[in-house]
Amino acid sequence: MSKKIICSSCGAEYEEHLVRCPYCGTATLNAEENEYMGKLEDVRKDLEDYSGEGEKQVKSKVGKTIIIVILVMIIIAALILGSIFLDWLGRQRDKNNRKDEFLNNQGITTSMLEETYYEM
Ligand SMILES: [Zn+2]
Repeated sequence: MSKKIICSSCGAEYEEHLVRCPYCGTATLNAEENEYMGKLEDVRKDLEDYSGEGEKQVKSKVGKTIIIVILVMIIIAALILGSIFLDWLGRQRDKNNRKDEFLNNQGITTSMLEETYYEM
């Protein structure tokens, strides 16, 4: 189904899909516009395909990144909890050591203190 158009310059009849009049070379506005729109459509489709693929890649990348981030956060949380626990253990030990040290400085041994405690 090819529509014929009449050249506005020389009056010759030619098919609409031609961009220019085959006789005088005058460009048809309609055909030029169609060609331009066709190219735009191609570009749009290319962009769509590209962005579609890009989106998929980005999504899988984001998924991987989220998993890595979660793993890193779990590791960091474990390290923090571990160091807090070790710190607490260390402080408990320090406290006991300091108590013993203090008592020793006072000339009191832990066993003496325990004896006093039992006597009371
Ligand atoms: Zn013409």
